Amino acid sequence: MAYDDNNIFAKILRGEIPNTTVLETDQVLCFEDINPMAPVHVLVIPKGKYVDWSDMAANGSPEEVMALFQACSNVAEIKGLDEGGYRVLSNKGVDARQEVPHLHLHVVGGRDLKRMLPPDIKG
Ligand code: 5GP
Repeated sequence: MAYDDNNIFAKILRGEIPNTTVLETDQVLCFEDINPMAPVHVLVIPKGKYVDWSDMAANGSPEEVMALFQACSNVAEIKGLDEGGYRVLSNKGVDARQEVPHLHLHVVGGRDLKRMLPPDIKG
């Protein structure tokens, strides 16, 4: 899929839509999710134009990838999640219900997050 410059996170990166920033570096922007699923729910995005995880894995530089990993860890520390723990996840594509076609990692925590996925629903 080609990168869409009009996706909502591209607009946030250009400053066209406001966000509540937790951390920003030359490589990443980390901001509060508008619809938090846990007491802490921060989105970590690269400033580079990557549609999803696979796109960045194929086309990102090692420095960009490392910056993304490091940012998740730094966000967790800023939010005081290190002791209790936290979850990092990224949705890619239809089955994962990715809504925004700019790679983003969800950093969630601040409560017991339960099992990672709900049980499969048969039929
Ligand atoms: P996805 O389903 O693509 O993995 O997650 C997209 C996330 O982006 C959702 O958790 C949603 O709440 C968040 N989101 C969508 N639009 C906005 C927005 O305009 N601002 C912020 N801060 N988060 C957004």
